Amino acid sequence: MSISQFYPQILEQAENAIIVVNKDDDIVFFNSNAERLWGRSRETVQGANISLLMPPLKNDQQTQSPGQSGIGLLVGHHVELPIERPNQTRVWAEISVSRIEITTQTLYLITARNITLNKVHKALRYHVLQIMAKTESLQEVLNLLCQEISRIAPEISVTIAQISNDGRLHTLAAPDFPTEYISQTDGIDPGSQSSCLGLAAFHGEPVLVRDIENDPGWTVAKHETLELGYKACWAVPVKARDGHVVGVLAFYYRVCRRPNKLHTQLAEVATSLCTLAMEQAQSRARIHHLAFFDNLTSLPNRSMLHIQANQAIAQAIRDNTQLAVLFLDVDRFKQVNDSLGHPAGDALLRIVAERLREAIREVDILCRYSGDEFVIVLTQCDSVHATDLAGRLLAVLSAPCQIGEIPLSPAASIGISLFPENGNDIDTLIHAADMAMYQAKQKGRGCFSFFSGQLNLLAKERFTLESSLRGALETNQLRLYYQPQINIETHQLHGIEALVRWNDPQLGYVAPSRFIPLAEKSGLMTYLSQWVLNEACRQLAQWRQHGFTIPSISVNLSPTDFHNLKLPQYLEAILRSHGLLPNDILIEITEGVLMDSNPNVIRTINEIRALGVRLSIDDFGTGYSSLAYLRNLPVNELKLDQSFVHDLGRDRSTRALTNAIMHIGDSMGLLVVAEGVEHSTQRNLLKAQGYQIVQGNLFSPPLPPEELENWLNENLSFTQWQ
Ligand code: C2E
Ligand code: MG
Ligand code: MG
Repeated sequence: MSISQFYPQILEQAENAIIVVNKDDDIVFFNSNAERLWGRSRETVQGANISLLMPPLKNDQQTQSPGQSGIGLLVGHHVELPIERPNQTRVWAEISVSRIEITTQTLYLITARNITLNKVHKALRYHVLQIMAKTESLQEVLNLLCQEISRIAPEISVTIAQISNDGRLHTLAAPDFPTEYISQTDGIDPGSQSSCLGLAAFHGEPVLVRDIENDPGWTVAKHETLELGYKACWAVPVKARDGHVVGVLAFYYRVCRRPNKLHTQLAEVATSLCTLAMEQAQSRARIHHLAFFDNLTSLPNRSMLHIQANQAIAQAIRDNTQLAVLFLDVDRFKQVNDSLGHPAGDALLRIVAERLREAIREVDILCRYSGDEFVIVLTQCDSVHATDLAGRLLAVLSAPCQIGEIPLSPAASIGISLFPENGNDIDTLIHAADMAMYQAKQKGRGCFSFFSGQLNLLAKERFTLESSLRGALETNQLRLYYQPQINIETHQLHGIEALVRWNDPQLGYVAPSRFIPLAEKSGLMTYLSQWVLNEACRQLAQWRQHGFTIPSISVNLSPTDFHNLKLPQYLEAILRSHGLLPNDILIEITEGVLMDSNPNVIRTINEIRALGVRLSIDDFGTGYSSLAYLRNLPVNELKLDQSFVHDLGRDRSTRALTNAIMHIGDSMGLLVVAEGVEHSTQRNLLKAQGYQIVQGNLFSPPLPPEELENWLNENLSFTQWQ
């Protein structure tokens, strides 16, 4: 038996699809693999022209083989051709054609191989890589990838999620899903919330849920998923090159099923493309960080400063606001670097950066400018705020820290320039601030300096005053002086006003009119008032213990004290701790308190009054145009401002006013006290108008406690004032 008789069977069973056509391109043989590849039975193609199975050949293929026509053109070539099957699906085949001469007959043997999967790989990769080269948006790339997959396999809806820094899964692309669905399923914690995607991310393995509806493990948005028509889901982890899971690719199906070979192939290519795109986005972010942020401190660098500062200046021009630039240089940084080594220098810079970051507002710009220099741009900031912040920064920076084993107190010098006064662009402003910084350095460590000499002087004075006051409060250097108030009818002591005194070893005597406003602005007022209240009460209690009869003590409080809702509570505690009654103390408030818009003020005033502590309006007649507030405030006393008393003797209209004030007080049942009485004529005029209580140098200036005791002993009968 000759083997040749089996040739047709051999061709029939060959691994490849095999077609034989005659010289007219009519099909004479069609094996079973050809049937499978083309999706047609041999009976339907037998005798038909080969053009039924293949698209028309291209021109360039014709020119390569002159003298040939039809299928003969392909002899000797490998070509990839799309095959349209009768069921509308398309596959790709690689085809080669051999020319066979048998006696006088010419035949063509066509062998074909299904290369669809391979082709899909290439097409997908090509499209996605092309878009990756064009766009910087990871989302755009991943959306396109989802769409390409659905185009190749329309039975799939695709989502791609990424694991973010917080360890949660965030959807980056899901073109077939509505946004509400995405937000419902966004932020899954793979460790604790179970879903197909979460499990795939958690275990790093593909997870198939063939029947979502009956899957007890699917807890995230199950109802919503089913409502969208999805019945099955296959999730495949996306892994980085080192193998850790960075995201999840999920295929959703509208029928309960498992993925077929094409789907697994698609997932394989798609996950590798996801890895690539995600890594590309990450390196882009890293490059951005390297280009715009400082590696050591993670603060914005010079380039970023320029971008942000120019935006801030443009905004300041639009809003017509000011802006301050602070140039900060770490003092003795070189010494730290040289003596303790560069790692210690780096550690110091990190500490400084962190402290600065914490001290500024979010809207401000902080940058590591170079080496040990930092630049801060303060938006909506005038010289007063810049002074405050510079002082605060120096204080914050100087807190002790530990670098390795060495304890250090970092210090810095700060130069300040202002927009628009010192320049219109960031370079000029930085330069001006830099110059001011040098000026600050020359004055010693831990100073700041404004670019303009004039401003610098004022700011510095204020800063010195403020830090000295802080020191005076900390070291208990303040004193209270006491001025008696006398009843000119009965010649009895009516009360005593406590007035704060500050004698600084360097600055000398500083008047309350200078440091009280400063204490208010710098937030020191609360401490100052608490000290004054406590000291006045302590002194009153002590005097009483020593047998002095002092009806009550008046204490001055500032408008800002009334912002503090704890003041009444504090007052009550002080009185209790010194064994005093609420009636033993009287709080003097200025008319400024009444103009304060802070909502706590009225509440605090009412609560103090409810304690039984009396209230007096100090400097009455100078500050407020409307008297209506007197009706609504629970005050007990008015203190006629001393400017009226001063002008009493010379001015008739002043006399008319003091008379009127007396009547107002009288008619409202308020006691009216006249202060600043220096001469007996003033006393007599006031007495004639009905004033009973007077205070002033005529009787006694404010005195330290020991001297007031002498005064009380000498003036017990008060006869000389009659
Ligand atoms: P004030 O409460 O109206 O105090 C009266 C001021 O007049 C005191 O000034 C006092 O020394 C001064 N004085 C008293 N008798 C005469 C006089 O016959 N002639 C003249 N020309 N002046 C006289 P001082 O002590 O400099 O205080 C000024 C202001 O500072 C006070 O005005 C008060 O508003 C504020 N102040 C003083 N001590 C405190 C305090 O402990 N806390 C608060 N928040 N403010 C205080
Ligand atoms: Mg007063
Ligand atoms: Mg006064």
